[in-house]
Amino acid sequence: MSQPTIVIATQNAGKLREIQATMGDMPVQWETLARFGDVVEPIEDGATFLENAAIKARYYSKLTGCWTLADDSGLVVDALDGDPGVYSARYAGDACDDAANNRKLIERLHGVPMDKRTARFVCSIACADGETILAEAEGRFEGLIVDEPRGANGFGYDPHFLVPSLGRTSAELEPEHKNSISHRGEALAAIRPKLRTILNL
Ligand code: IMP
Repeated sequence: MSQPTIVIATQNAGKLREIQATMGDMPVQWETLARFGDVVEPIEDGATFLENAAIKARYYSKLTGCWTLADDSGLVVDALDGDPGVYSARYAGDACDDAANNRKLIERLHGVPMDKRTARFVCSIACADGETILAEAEGRFEGLIVDEPRGANGFGYDPHFLVPSLGRTSAELEPEHKNSISHRGEALAAIRPKLRTILNL
Protein backbone atom coordinates (compact mmCIF):
# COMPACT_ATOMS: atom_id res chain seq x y z
CA MET A 1 0.00 0.00 0.00
CA SER A 2 1.36 3.47 -0.84
CA GLN A 3 2.05 5.85 2.02
CA PRO A 4 -0.71 8.33 2.90
CA THR A 5 0.13 11.97 2.26
CA ILE A 6 -0.32 14.66 4.91
CA VAL A 7 0.34 18.34 4.23
CA ILE A 8 1.78 20.41 7.08
CA ALA A 9 0.03 23.77 6.66
CA THR A 10 2.52 26.31 7.95
CA GLN A 11 4.76 28.88 6.27
CA ASN A 12 6.82 29.14 9.46
CA ALA A 13 10.14 27.30 8.99
CA GLY A 14 10.66 26.82 12.75
CA LYS A 15 7.26 25.19 13.25
CA LEU A 16 7.79 23.03 10.19
CA ARG A 17 11.10 21.73 11.56
CA GLU A 18 9.51 20.97 14.91
CA ILE A 19 6.53 19.14 13.41
CA GLN A 20 8.79 17.14 11.09
CA ALA A 21 11.09 16.26 14.00
CA THR A 22 8.14 14.89 16.02
CA MET A 23 6.23 13.20 13.21
CA GLY A 24 8.96 12.45 10.68
CA ASP A 25 9.40 8.79 11.63
CA MET A 26 5.77 7.91 10.82
CA PRO A 27 5.26 6.07 7.49
CA VAL A 28 3.60 9.09 5.95
CA GLN A 29 4.55 11.14 2.91
CA TRP A 30 4.88 14.58 4.57
CA GLU A 31 4.38 17.56 2.27
CA THR A 32 4.59 21.28 2.88
CA LEU A 33 2.58 24.12 1.37
CA ALA A 34 5.65 25.03 -0.69
CA ARG A 35 4.68 22.26 -3.14
CA PHE A 36 1.43 24.03 -3.94
CA GLY A 37 2.91 27.36 -5.04
CA ASP A 38 1.57 30.72 -3.86
CA VAL A 39 -1.52 30.08 -1.79
CA VAL A 40 -3.87 32.67 -0.32
CA GLU A 41 -4.16 32.36 3.47
CA PRO A 42 -7.60 31.83 5.02
CA ILE A 43 -9.20 34.35 7.37
CA GLU A 44 -8.58 33.13 10.92
CA ASP A 45 -11.71 34.42 12.62
CA GLY A 46 -12.28 31.64 15.13
CA ALA A 47 -12.97 32.49 18.78
CA THR A 48 -10.52 29.85 20.03
CA PHE A 49 -7.16 28.39 19.01
CA LEU A 50 -8.88 25.11 18.20
CA GLU A 51 -11.41 26.82 15.91
CA ASN A 52 -8.59 28.58 14.07
CA ALA A 53 -6.55 25.39 13.72
CA ALA A 54 -9.65 23.66 12.28
CA ILE A 55 -10.34 26.58 9.89
CA LYS A 56 -6.79 26.31 8.54
CA ALA A 57 -6.75 22.50 8.37
CA ARG A 58 -10.06 22.36 6.45
CA TYR A 59 -9.14 25.23 4.13
CA TYR A 60 -5.75 23.83 3.13
CA SER A 61 -7.08 20.27 2.87
CA LYS A 62 -9.69 21.40 0.34
CA LEU A 63 -7.08 23.47 -1.49
CA THR A 64 -4.49 20.69 -1.72
CA GLY A 65 -6.81 17.69 -1.91
CA CYS A 66 -4.71 16.03 0.85
CA TRP A 67 -5.12 15.40 4.53
CA THR A 68 -3.77 18.51 6.24
CA LEU A 69 -2.32 19.25 9.67
CA ALA A 70 -2.57 22.87 10.90
CA ASP A 71 -1.88 24.57 14.20
CA ASP A 72 -2.77 27.80 15.93
CA SER A 73 -1.15 29.17 19.03
CA GLY A 74 -0.83 32.19 21.26
CA LEU A 75 -0.37 33.63 24.71
CA VAL A 76 -3.14 33.70 27.35
CA VAL A 77 -2.56 36.09 30.28
CA ASP A 78 -4.89 35.68 33.27
CA ALA A 79 -4.62 39.29 34.51
CA LEU A 80 -5.68 40.47 31.02
CA ASP A 81 -8.76 38.24 30.90
CA GLY A 82 -7.07 35.89 28.46
CA ASP A 83 -5.58 38.51 26.14
CA PRO A 84 -3.80 38.57 23.73
CA GLY A 85 -5.26 35.09 23.04
CA VAL A 86 -6.19 34.47 19.41
CA TYR A 87 -4.94 37.99 18.63
CA SER A 88 -1.39 37.21 19.83
CA ALA A 89 0.27 37.72 16.44
CA ARG A 90 -1.40 41.12 15.88
CA TYR A 91 -1.92 42.34 19.45
CA ALA A 92 -0.45 45.79 18.74
CA GLY A 93 -2.17 46.14 15.34
CA ASP A 94 -2.32 44.49 11.95
CA ALA A 95 1.15 45.51 10.78
CA CYS A 96 2.91 45.09 14.13
CA ASP A 97 6.04 43.13 15.04
CA ASP A 98 7.13 41.13 18.10
CA ALA A 99 8.68 44.21 19.74
CA ALA A 100 5.42 46.22 19.48
CA ASN A 101 3.38 43.28 20.81
CA ASN A 102 5.75 42.85 23.75
CA ARG A 103 5.67 46.57 24.54
CA LYS A 104 1.87 46.54 24.63
CA LEU A 105 1.84 43.43 26.80
CA ILE A 106 4.20 44.95 29.38
CA GLU A 107 2.30 48.28 29.37
CA ARG A 108 -0.98 46.47 30.03
CA LEU A 109 0.59 44.62 32.96
CA HIS A 110 1.96 47.78 34.57
CA GLY A 111 1.35 47.62 38.32
CA VAL A 112 0.25 43.96 38.29
CA PRO A 113 2.22 42.06 40.97
CA MET A 114 4.31 39.05 40.04
CA ASP A 115 1.98 36.50 41.65
CA LYS A 116 -0.87 37.76 39.43
CA ARG A 117 1.15 37.50 36.20
CA THR A 118 0.33 33.88 35.46
CA ALA A 119 0.11 33.06 31.76
CA ARG A 120 0.34 30.18 29.34
CA PHE A 121 1.16 29.53 25.74
CA VAL A 122 -1.53 27.38 24.15
CA CYS A 123 -1.25 25.42 20.91
CA SER A 124 -4.09 23.64 19.14
CA ILE A 125 -3.53 21.24 16.26
CA ALA A 126 -6.12 19.81 13.89
CA CYS A 127 -5.91 17.32 11.04
CA ALA A 128 -8.60 17.56 8.35
CA ASP A 129 -9.75 15.56 5.36
CA GLY A 130 -11.71 18.19 3.45
CA GLU A 131 -14.49 19.38 5.76
CA THR A 132 -13.98 16.51 8.20
CA ILE A 133 -11.78 16.97 11.27
CA LEU A 134 -10.02 13.62 11.75
CA ALA A 135 -8.09 14.46 14.92
CA GLU A 136 -7.34 17.40 17.18
CA ALA A 137 -5.23 18.09 20.26
CA GLU A 138 -4.14 20.93 22.51
CA GLY A 139 -1.01 21.65 24.55
CA ARG A 140 -0.18 24.20 27.26
CA PHE A 141 3.01 25.75 28.62
CA GLU A 142 2.67 27.57 31.95
CA GLY A 143 4.70 30.60 32.98
CA LEU A 144 4.81 34.16 34.35
CA ILE A 145 5.19 37.42 32.42
CA VAL A 146 8.27 39.44 33.43
CA ASP A 147 8.91 43.11 32.56
CA GLU A 148 12.58 42.71 31.60
CA PRO A 149 13.18 40.71 28.41
CA ARG A 150 15.81 37.97 28.67
CA GLY A 151 17.30 35.58 26.13
CA ALA A 152 17.85 35.57 22.39
CA ASN A 153 16.28 32.27 21.35
CA GLY A 154 12.72 31.64 20.29
CA PHE A 155 10.39 34.31 18.95
CA GLY A 156 7.28 36.31 19.83
CA TYR A 157 6.69 36.67 23.56
CA ASP A 158 9.48 34.27 24.60
CA PRO A 159 11.80 36.91 26.16
CA HIS A 160 9.07 37.90 28.64
CA PHE A 161 7.84 34.37 29.42
CA LEU A 162 9.46 33.07 32.59
CA VAL A 163 9.34 29.33 33.23
CA PRO A 164 9.28 29.36 37.06
CA SER A 165 10.64 25.84 37.60
CA LEU A 166 13.72 26.67 35.50
CA GLY A 167 14.22 30.31 36.52
CA ARG A 168 14.69 31.13 32.85
CA THR A 169 12.58 32.69 30.13
CA SER A 170 11.63 30.52 27.18
CA ALA A 171 13.97 32.69 25.08
CA GLU A 172 16.85 31.48 27.30
CA LEU A 173 16.15 27.81 26.57
CA GLU A 174 17.83 25.81 23.84
CA PRO A 175 15.27 25.16 21.07
CA GLU A 176 15.24 21.38 21.74
CA HIS A 177 14.67 21.99 25.44
CA LYS A 178 11.80 24.42 24.76
CA ASN A 179 10.23 22.02 22.23
CA SER A 180 10.33 19.18 24.74
CA ILE A 181 8.24 21.10 27.30
CA SER A 182 6.32 23.59 25.16
CA HIS A 183 2.67 23.92 24.21
CA ARG A 184 3.47 22.87 20.64
CA GLY A 185 5.51 19.88 21.81
CA GLU A 186 2.64 18.77 24.04
CA ALA A 187 0.01 19.22 21.30
CA LEU A 188 2.15 17.29 18.81
CA ALA A 189 2.74 14.47 21.28
CA ALA A 190 -1.02 14.30 21.91
CA ILE A 191 -2.10 14.21 18.26
CA ARG A 192 0.53 11.67 17.24
CA PRO A 193 -1.21 8.54 18.68
CA LYS A 194 -4.56 9.75 17.29
CA LEU A 195 -3.05 9.95 13.80
CA ARG A 196 -1.48 6.51 14.21
CA THR A 197 -4.89 5.07 15.11
CA ILE A 198 -6.60 6.72 12.12
CA LEU A 199 -3.82 5.49 9.84
CA ASN A 200 -3.96 1.96 11.32
CA LEU A 201 -0.28 2.17 12.27
P1 IMP B 1 0.52 31.46 15.21
O1 IMP B 1 0.22 30.15 15.81
O2 IMP B 1 1.61 31.38 14.20
O3 IMP B 1 -0.70 32.16 14.72
O4 IMP B 1 1.18 32.34 16.39
C1 IMP B 1 0.50 33.31 17.07
C2 IMP B 1 1.40 34.20 17.89
O5 IMP B 1 1.44 33.67 19.22
C3 IMP B 1 2.84 34.33 17.46
O6 IMP B 1 3.01 35.33 16.50
C4 IMP B 1 3.51 34.71 18.78
O7 IMP B 1 3.34 36.08 19.01
C5 IMP B 1 2.69 33.94 19.79
N1 IMP B 1 3.32 32.64 20.10
C6 IMP B 1 2.85 31.40 19.81
N2 IMP B 1 3.72 30.46 20.26
C7 IMP B 1 4.74 31.12 20.82
C8 IMP B 1 5.96 30.70 21.44
O8 IMP B 1 6.29 29.51 21.54
N3 IMP B 1 6.76 31.68 21.88
C9 IMP B 1 6.47 33.00 21.77
N4 IMP B 1 5.37 33.46 21.20
C10 IMP B 1 4.49 32.52 20.73
